[in-house]
Amino acid sequence: MPAMLAVLETRTIFGGETATARLVFYLLALLTLVLFFWGLYRRVRAYRGGRQPEGWRWLRRSVAREIPDVTARPSVAESAAIIAANRSITKVKRPVGIAHLLVFWGFIGLFLATSILSLDYDILGTVARFLTGRTYGFFQGPFYLGYNAVFDLAGLLAIVGTLALALRRWFSPEPQLDYRRAEVPEEGYSRSKIVLGDQVFMAGLLLILVTGLLIQGLRIDGEGFPAFERWTWFGWVIGKLFVSLGIGAAAARSTHAWLWWVHVGTALAFIAYLPFSKALHILSAPTNLVVNDPANIRRLPAPPSGPAGYATLADFTPKELLGFDSCTKCGRCHYVCPARTAGAPLSPRDFILDLRQWSDRENGIPLLLDTEKRPVASGPLSKEGPLAGTVIKERTLWSCTTCMACVEICPVGVEHVPTIVQLRRSLVDQGVMDATLQGALQNISTQGNSFGKSARMRARWTKGLEVQIPDARKEPVEYLWFLGDFASFDERLVQVSQTLASVLSHAGISFGILYEDERNAGNDVRRVGEEGLFEMLVESNMRAFEKASFDRIVTTDPHSFNTLRNEYPAFGLEKEVIHYSELLASLVYKGQVELKPLQRRVTYHDPCYLGRYNRVFDAPRAVIGATGCELVEMPRNRTNSFCCGAGGGRIWMDDSFLEERPSVNRIREAASLGVDYFVVACPKDYAMFSDAVKTVGLEGSMKVVDIVELFSEALLGANLIEA
Ligand code: SF4
Ligand code: SF4
Repeated sequence: MPAMLAVLETRTIFGGETATARLVFYLLALLTLVLFFWGLYRRVRAYRGGRQPEGWRWLRRSVAREIPDVTARPSVAESAAIIAANRSITKVKRPVGIAHLLVFWGFIGLFLATSILSLDYDILGTVARFLTGRTYGFFQGPFYLGYNAVFDLAGLLAIVGTLALALRRWFSPEPQLDYRRAEVPEEGYSRSKIVLGDQVFMAGLLLILVTGLLIQGLRIDGEGFPAFERWTWFGWVIGKLFVSLGIGAAAARSTHAWLWWVHVGTALAFIAYLPFSKALHILSAPTNLVVNDPANIRRLPAPPSGPAGYATLADFTPKELLGFDSCTKCGRCHYVCPARTAGAPLSPRDFILDLRQWSDRENGIPLLLDTEKRPVASGPLSKEGPLAGTVIKERTLWSCTTCMACVEICPVGVEHVPTIVQLRRSLVDQGVMDATLQGALQNISTQGNSFGKSARMRARWTKGLEVQIPDARKEPVEYLWFLGDFASFDERLVQVSQTLASVLSHAGISFGILYEDERNAGNDVRRVGEEGLFEMLVESNMRAFEKASFDRIVTTDPHSFNTLRNEYPAFGLEKEVIHYSELLASLVYKGQVELKPLQRRVTYHDPCYLGRYNRVFDAPRAVIGATGCELVEMPRNRTNSFCCGAGGGRIWMDDSFLEERPSVNRIREAASLGVDYFVVACPKDYAMFSDAVKTVGLEGSMKVVDIVELFSEALLGANLIEA
């Protein structure tokens, strides 16, 4: 029925374009696809060139979640839900996350719209006509009306989101968007091309969206506003706007003809440019989020060969290389990094960008923008020298406290810490390290502790206790108490260890210690890159565990807690490992102790290796709650806690060059709350923050207390805190 066909609701694809113009379009589209897939091929080839100790099984095991982890890791379906809801972005800055969500779903909608159009026109139209002599299009009638209504909404969402993100990038003074380096090379540098890369990316998206919207309005205007095009509601409004500006049907048609080419040309150029620019994260970031595995940080991977660490590009795993390509330069890790905040020459963002630029150059991947320039070849541009020390400076690598704040906050699942440790292993192999660190490692190697004290002195803190602490090597106990070096040797911590011993005895807990057989657990030794020494310590402690009879391990030290719980199982440890705050909380929960409420106002500091690493957030808070103290949270708490600055072996290194020690920064944060007590659950924290309180001059108004000291006061009545 020709008369009906004339009024059928649809629009002409390539309306007004000549056959030559169509041919040009398809040739350009072909060229675009060739460039796009060539770029992707270069990327995938680079990933395949990475180290794969277990072949591609890591990918299958990662996606299938076969790699066990003590903390719940999202399933693949949950990861997909996280990506779909952009939860890794919204969790920190909700407005930014919502804007990104609009862009994300808006563009998925527009991609779907283009695919449907191509299916109808190219496959069911052109190809089917060529093969069968008939066409099978469906782009008409109710489908056409619904298509326009839905995808106009997608376009609007994408425009609003992109505009919001672009304005933030271009005009926001937020410090994480400041591209100045934390580690400034002596010869200077320029990041103007990185800024330009951002601008081109955002401007490209906006141009595609806005021209798409305008040609929609021009088309409707040029067609004389057919009534059914009201379903194309956004384009209809724009068309009416053109009319109000005096642009009639003829002018609309001629403008549409050239603006269509601007729209199509920008879209094709953007697709071709994608693998060579920041836009790559559209593909790499979701992939990285699916294979991302935080267990890699809790349980560090072994070095590529022996203890030598990374030396060449071939040492990096495909997962690491994918992570570099996923970075969007959002700067969140840069902002939260305690080393950067303290004025150290480390920014996790710059670390990733430097490695990315270096690996792109090594892999021969051409980048027009998104690169840093230096007057002479050094840093990520250098072709000479070992990787650790040239591409990434030694001082940068040694500044890391391995606090995991960067990994926690990264919206695209980049895992900075294992890579930093692999490069530190290389420095250790070259013998490049701080003299004080060297001394501490020497002490650990010869005496089994970082204090350099004789092993026989390890249990000296038990002298003066009313009861003899059982020797777990000689009698069976339920809990083997692993103290760690600070709780055993540091004079300030002796009283805290004694208090915990009294509390456990009072509560009737069966516990014992290893006496002189306990060695440094090796958590921080491993994180400074001394893999060989770490393995020696593990063997030594495992021999001691074998001599003892116990059901589970309780430890005072979150660092020991992490390695015993997550790394020792690979060496044969099969016992449950808990932190003493969990044991204290269980005493309360099971009604094994009766506590008198205290009238104190306190704040609590989440140790990195207890909280962020192992997700023990509630037990310490439950203990504080049970003592009746009023807990006032610091703004940075739980996963967002701020490191004391001691982790990753930093406690053994010189920090006199820092502008403000992280522990001092943290005490100032607590002081703003007006609390009297700063509660810790880590011996190193006790030492670090006690010093920081003195530095800030708060000795008279704020006291650092261990959680067991509060518990003891509520349980036994003895006021150790004021003593
Ligand atoms: S682990 Fe902590 S100190 Fe190290 S780069 Fe990340 S945020 Fe900075
Ligand atoms: S590594 Fe992650 S958090 Fe850091 S700048 Fe890149 S995307 Fe942002």
